[in-house]
Amino acid sequence: MKAVRGMHDLFGVEIAKWQWIESQVKQVFENFGYQEIRTPVLESVEVFSKTVGDETDIVEKQMYSVQKESESLVLRPEGTAGFVRAVLEHQLHRDALHQRFFYYLPMFRHERPQKGRLRQFHQFGAELINDDSPEADAEVIALLVAIYKKLRITEYEVRINSLGCTECRPGMKKQLLDFLQPRLEHLCELCKKRFERAPLRVLDCKRETCKTAVAGSPQLNQCLCDQCKTHHDQLKKRLNEADVTFIDDPSIVRGLDYYSRTAFEFTSSLLGAQSALGGGGRYDQLASRFGEKPFPAVGFALGMERLVIALEAKGAFPEIKATPDVYLAALGNLPMDHLFPLSIQLKSSGVQTEISYAADKPLKWHLKQSNRLQCKFTVILGEDELKKKVILVKNMAAQTQVEFPLDSARTHILKQVKSEN
Ligand SMILES: [Zn+2]
Ligand SMILES: [Zn+2]
Repeated sequence: MKAVRGMHDLFGVEIAKWQWIESQVKQVFENFGYQEIRTPVLESVEVFSKTVGDETDIVEKQMYSVQKESESLVLRPEGTAGFVRAVLEHQLHRDALHQRFFYYLPMFRHERPQKGRLRQFHQFGAELINDDSPEADAEVIALLVAIYKKLRITEYEVRINSLGCTECRPGMKKQLLDFLQPRLEHLCELCKKRFERAPLRVLDCKRETCKTAVAGSPQLNQCLCDQCKTHHDQLKKRLNEADVTFIDDPSIVRGLDYYSRTAFEFTSSLLGAQSALGGGGRYDQLASRFGEKPFPAVGFALGMERLVIALEAKGAFPEIKATPDVYLAALGNLPMDHLFPLSIQLKSSGVQTEISYAADKPLKWHLKQSNRLQCKFTVILGEDELKKKVILVKNMAAQTQVEFPLDSARTHILKQVKSEN
């Protein structure tokens, strides 16, 4: 039996790397005042078909579906739609004050697996709701910058764009449609469909033929209404004030068509072909796709697997090694009668303890294990020590050895470990 294609088991050194990233990123979220939200892995298919859009690759081809009795469920392919469903369900948007949330969740998409793209992948996300100001957009972008800073990643570029609003988007679309109409036959099948429903996304197609066909497309930021222009200018001002270096790039439209006004992408040279290291945007109208009164919101998603690749490429993982405090070596069955309960007592007292239950091994073998695990102390109990009612505690670094009374072994070991830490 093997794990499902595109899905990985995580253990050993790999899990230590993940845990390090997780702890660093969560610390930044907390510093910025974002509280965690966890939504279920399974959602009704409508959560995504209504928001991400029926005509997208994600909904059309990539979702894992589960049919259970009359319910059509899918494994979450992205974070924002489920988040918005949760906000509406619990009326979180009724709070007058803006609210900040983060998530760290597994996502599922049936795509062709390759480096940095798995079928089960993991994303951090931030969502800031009830605030339509450009300052909120700037904060979310600065938050992503702070995460990279915390992880000591400096090799990235920030690209921002404005996709307009319900006022000016139609004009934008019309300009684009006029431009694309004579080029329609050169577009891929998917883009021909997009042409009708989401023409902006044609600009985002990764196929060479489509890229060529849309070269020289009109500058859509020229079509922004006054409010969108002011919003975008203010965002740039705030980013400058926050010391965020960015590029204003009209080609940033993002893969999802629910964004309005601000859209942004982070790319990194550390990632090779899969250069996207995170991105997001404003989605003020998303709730209306559920037939609800919309609320302002802005957010981003950041792929965990991409972070791991970036940090590995940079060689930036810190030395991650949990070294046990104590190794217990029982030389015989009678000594084991003492060391087994002692090991449980030490572990329960917060001492990281290793023990081998192989009571028939010689001391040399135990010392080798203790060295391999880089334990600070080796506690030795053999038949001779038992007769003398003592226990030996060896400091592995100093290569010194102390003898303690067996009946107060726990207290003495605790004292030794404490003085070492
Ligand atoms: Zn506008
Ligand atoms: Zn295309």
